[in-house]
Order: sequence, then C-alpha cells, then structure tokens
Amino acid sequence: MRVLVVEDERRLAGMLAQGLREAGHTVDIRYTGPDGLLAAATGPYDAIVLDVMLPGLDGTQVCRTLRQQGNQVPVLMLTARGEVPDRVAGLDSGADDYLSKPFSFDELLARLRALHRRSAAPATAEVRAGDLVLDPARRRAFRGETEIDLSAREFDILALLLTRAGECLTRYQILDEVWDGETDIRSNVIDVHVATLRAKVDKPFGRHAIETLRGVGYRLRPDGG
Ligand code: CA
Repeated sequence: MRVLVVEDERRLAGMLAQGLREAGHTVDIRYTGPDGLLAAATGPYDAIVLDVMLPGLDGTQVCRTLRQQGNQVPVLMLTARGEVPDRVAGLDSGADDYLSKPFSFDELLARLRALHRRSAAPATAEVRAGDLVLDPARRRAFRGETEIDLSAREFDILALLLTRAGECLTRYQILDEVWDGETDIRSNVIDVHVATLRAKVDKPFGRHAIETLRGVGYRLRPDGG
C-alpha cells in the first residue's frame, strides 16, 4: 500500500512511517495541512493517515477539500480528542474512519487494511430501493438523478441496508459487516454514521428511507422512503 502520513508531531510521524515501512508499505510524510493537501491531491496513494490538529489547514479542512476535488482516497483521521462532536466533524468532512490518540499501532494497521480492502472491493450489480440507487462497482450513490457523495463507511452501511431492504439490522450486525468484526468500536459510532447518511440521502429530499427501530437497529424502506 502507498500511504501518506500527515502529522506535525515529528516523533509520531517518524514512528508511524517506520512501522508502516516495516509492515511492507511505501510511506511519504508531510508535516503541515497545506503540504499534506498538495501531496494527497497529486500523489497516487492508497490511504491517508491524517491528523486533525495541523498547522496551516486542519485535517477536516484538508479532507473536505480533497472530497470537493472528487478525490475519494480512503482517509483515516487521527484525533487527540475522543469527543463525539470532533468525530462528527471528521466524518462530515469525508473521512472514512478515525482513531483517537493514543492508539496502538496494530489497530492503525488493521484499520488501514480494512479501508483499503473496502476501496478495492470487487464489483457487483447495481442495487436499488425506489429511486435510491447504488453502483457498487464505481462506488457511486444516487437519489433519482442526483449523485450523492458518501464516505466509504456511509456507502458500506447504505449498501448493507439496501441489499437487505425491509429487514431490521441490529447495530451488532452492522458492526460485524461494515467494521469487519473490529472489537473496540462502540455502537454509537454507527448512530453517528447513520445520522450523517440520513443527512445526505433523506433530509435534502424530504424522505425517510432509513428508519430507526428504537432499541433494536435500523431498517431501510424497500420503496426508498
Ligand atoms: Ca497535530
């Protein structure tokens, strides 16, 4: 994997790069937001490890700019703060996953592998519910004629709900399918992702396709809401 590490704490950046290289990956390091953005926008990376607190531009600004440019490279965001509003800001900016400092290096490697696996997932046929359509081959989502920008996680959750439309999926089922059984994920992470997903596929269109079954989980209406 070719990985870009954007982290201004030089010691941490160096340790990450060394560990990733020892794990067989190719690594570039940038120490500021603007340098990171330039490298990410021009380099052929399979994944980006992006710190939130950076000089120049913060991680969420870097990520948002990349997504606005149509760059869908998987982004794993590093946050020093584990608070929900920061996670939401990170996910809203288009990051695919986040890890709170301090984290274990093995955990970082596992998350990167999972992100890469998903972004390289094999093509399958289009799935739809009403006018909500997913094209898994190109990882694109549409509501009618309108294309919707989704993060990798949001896409995977929506794909799962769509392929099993009408069924209630528990948070544990969603964790198992979308997070590959990673064990230290708390189930409220799913609620955060579902909230951002709704804000993209339902709210702007005045729809209610993704239903909450209180205390149980989520269900997608087969008619697309
Ligand atoms: Ca930092």
